[in-house]
Amino acid sequence: MSDERLEKCRYRKLCGGCQLQHLSYARQLEEKQKRMEKLLGQFHEVLPIIGMEDPLHYRNKVNASFGYAEHRVICGNYVTSTHEIVEVPGCMINDEKANEIIQTVKKLSVRLKISIFDEDALKGGLRHVMVRCSNLNEYMVVLVTGTETLYKGEQFVRELVKAHPEITTVVQNVNRRHTSMVLGNHNNVLYGKGYITDQLMGCHFRISAASFYQINKRQTAVLYRTALNMAHFTGSETVIDAYCGTGTIGIIASREVRNVIGVEINEQAVRDAKRNARENGVENISFYADDAGSFMRRMAKEKKKTDAVIMDPPRSGADKKFLDALCILKPEKIVYISCGPDSLKQNLHYLIKNGYQVEFIQPVDMFPYTEHVETVVLLSKGNISSKKVHVDFSLKDIDMSGIKTGATYDEIKSYVKKNYDLTVSSLNIAQIKEKYGIKERESYNHSKKQEPKQPKCTEEKEEAILDALKYYNTV
Ligand code: SAH
Repeated sequence: MSDERLEKCRYRKLCGGCQLQHLSYARQLEEKQKRMEKLLGQFHEVLPIIGMEDPLHYRNKVNASFGYAEHRVICGNYVTSTHEIVEVPGCMINDEKANEIIQTVKKLSVRLKISIFDEDALKGGLRHVMVRCSNLNEYMVVLVTGTETLYKGEQFVRELVKAHPEITTVVQNVNRRHTSMVLGNHNNVLYGKGYITDQLMGCHFRISAASFYQINKRQTAVLYRTALNMAHFTGSETVIDAYCGTGTIGIIASREVRNVIGVEINEQAVRDAKRNARENGVENISFYADDAGSFMRRMAKEKKKTDAVIMDPPRSGADKKFLDALCILKPEKIVYISCGPDSLKQNLHYLIKNGYQVEFIQPVDMFPYTEHVETVVLLSKGNISSKKVHVDFSLKDIDMSGIKTGATYDEIKSYVKKNYDLTVSSLNIAQIKEKYGIKERESYNHSKKQEPKQPKCTEEKEEAILDALKYYNTV
């Protein structure tokens, strides 16, 4: 574990972003586990929280605000509940390159004498900078300004990109309003395509300045895989992805079910979701821009059949309208992904009162060093246990327990090629099978695996192979 590497952040008291800074990562996980057991233990056993192997520098989206301190330009986070800024140069939960880019943006703004936004007068240039990155190593810089034009903008962008060739796009966002929201409505692409592309579980997703996207660059796949493992789809289901954001989980689930219906209140997110589906060649999914409760109520009125509902509501949980309609629709399974443990508890009470039963509770640590916990819960209409749901989270972060050894190496290779555009060797597959204790067929050449000069499988290939192995388990 990386705790030895960890020096306590000097800014933690002022910044307040990492509430669990004072604890080692192992202790943080213990605390979160205890909290969830206390809160949710009344419903079912709480499975041991799935932590991150490396809990540092996981954030793929980093914001910093500009201001002055004693006539000096500063750029950092707001001190908790105030409008003062504290600089946190090497924030340990942010992507490291994003931290560096922010420092360069600050230095450039001083050198080029770019004016800083004055919050009281609602006047001036640079207000915030946002850096987003994808696991394809593309970086987007969003310069939020209070002015339509960015003074010395061309030179600024030229020098920024020269200093950080990993930046693939720079966007100016204009926000002149008196608001605590970082982004305004108007975007102006200064360099590149205006978006970056993330690769997640064999799909590609476009992330633009305002897109909603899970912020933990390594743990999102674990969260989604946990949810899909719990759902244990057979391929014939109609599934609702409620509160679907830009459609990520529904698009990934679409490979394992008959069809998916996504519903999301934010119209821009729905437009992104539709494009994401198109760009991934997914045809068995449709999206609706609507309040999830109203949509579910309409589905219930029209007596539509739904086998499963994946729901991922905001921190406040689902409202009564949604839950009532859910209980009328009565899907066999509900996979509830929650970032709000208190609302989850209330919603579970309600669903249990209406006949559902909790089958699994699995916390996943998406936000190390902070107090936040994500939890995945499987609920059934009351008869799922008898159908032998197969979930085992014991193997590292990903369930490999039910994997058949039946998929041939060629099938795995072509799956990985098709979905990830990666070429993997038989050796790579053998290495991953060995790592995860998956039984080899007799005929495979084991001696090859021990060849010391053979290169190790990259993380990217490992993820792709694991996904292929999972995929073949589902058909
Ligand atoms: N499942 C997605 C997004 C989850 S975040 C993912 O994993 O990326 C929760 C989403 O719920 C946000 O996109 C938010 O816009 C949406 N939302 C909030 N209230 C809603 C409502 N009443 N009806 C439908 N969607 C809502």
